[in-house]
Amino acid sequence: MPELPEVETVRRILLPYCKGKRIEDVEVYRTKNVLCPMEVFLSALKGKRILDVMRKGKVLCFVLEGNRCLYSHLRMEGRYFEGRKGQSQGKYEILRFDFDDGTILSYSDSRKFGRFLLLEGDPHREGSPFAELGPEPFDLDVKEFHSRLKGKSIPIKEALLDQSIVSGIGNIYADETLFACKIHPKTPAKAISFAECESIKAEASRILAEAIEEGGATIRSYHPKEGMDGRMQNQLLAYGNENKSCPVCGFPLRKIEVSGRGTTYCPICARKERVPFVIGVTGPIHSGKSTVSKMLEERGYARFDADAVAKSMYGRPAVRAYAKKVFGKEAIVDKKPNVPYLSKAMGEDKMKKKSFEDFLYPLVLEEARKFTLKHKSVVLDVPLLLPSHIDSLCDVIILVEAAPEARANRLLEEGRDAKKLMKLNASYPLAMTKKKASIVIVNDGDLESLRKQIEGLPF
Ligand SMILES: [Zn+2]
Repeated sequence: MPELPEVETVRRILLPYCKGKRIEDVEVYRTKNVLCPMEVFLSALKGKRILDVMRKGKVLCFVLEGNRCLYSHLRMEGRYFEGRKGQSQGKYEILRFDFDDGTILSYSDSRKFGRFLLLEGDPHREGSPFAELGPEPFDLDVKEFHSRLKGKSIPIKEALLDQSIVSGIGNIYADETLFACKIHPKTPAKAISFAECESIKAEASRILAEAIEEGGATIRSYHPKEGMDGRMQNQLLAYGNENKSCPVCGFPLRKIEVSGRGTTYCPICARKERVPFVIGVTGPIHSGKSTVSKMLEERGYARFDADAVAKSMYGRPAVRAYAKKVFGKEAIVDKKPNVPYLSKAMGEDKMKKKSFEDFLYPLVLEEARKFTLKHKSVVLDVPLLLPSHIDSLCDVIILVEAAPEARANRLLEEGRDAKKLMKLNASYPLAMTKKKASIVIVNDGDLESLRKQIEGLPF
């Protein structure tokens, strides 16, 4: 979605192109995108000259002769094209102006979310799209901004995206701003200090100004001229850099979801007491993840044992009933899980296993979430961190790896059926977990070496 710098870049291209031109004709190919009666829209535009192209936040405004304003919100994929009469602009074209000099301005939108609104009067008049927007970061009154945040429990990232609080910032520049300010994106808005509000204003203004200089970021192209591209994407330090080294401290950047939006940040630089610091430790069966979790527990982390919590879930009648429904009544004996029966049944029927996991995992995830809120530093010991979505709670993911032979040997030493257990664990998503992991710890069976690796961690 184009943000302030991208829309400003569009404005700077459109202004010299449109200014002073008279609209001879208007074609609307998709009337749903125009938020006023079509007759009014067409008659108000035809024959009028474009006097100016303005912008506030992410909204454009064509100022027309006759005291009228045409607001244009590009939303996700809206794009303007310059051209000459008779030129086709393809199947996504929504609207087109024919100018008196033989040129055209065409608006296309593959996602069809863009909107047009025509209003009389001043561009900033009450009830206009401009008036509904909060100030841009450049014009932010820090005192007012701080007091608006005070009443909000939502994460600061979500508050920055709320265009009524501050306008022009979208997902890219929210991540960049919070990264520059070393603020964890999940920090409750009301916990942001006055000094941090000053820092948000300063950094957002600096980053947006720089992005305007660079012609915006071409994450998706929005340029009205062919062959023109923004260069800001090369300067982004957080956005789009999941698992790359933090340019400040070198630790891998983490990507999570905050209020439904992908969010990239540095868990080390942004670590403050206000948000629990959560480490997820995972790995295949008998890789040593519990040993690693316990070592972190010794260092002061509150430990959550997902296996134990999953087992305790059978204390709930709904879970027992669901297990019986999926695997038959032998699954539960004396209100307890019949473990040998269940592991055999899960090994034999992948569909049933999945159905039961889809039921159980959200319950364990909820318990893990509640646990993180009770402590400042947490280690979540979770065998299936990704499939259970518990990774969504983690600032750091540690994957503990060990050679399969070593894992099998340890199982044998414990007198367990190594062959069967290893087979059951064969579906462990190792490649995916490796890709997501912040750190991979190799466990060669030597406790001292493991301890050294833990001590070398920057947290
Ligand atoms: Zn960092």
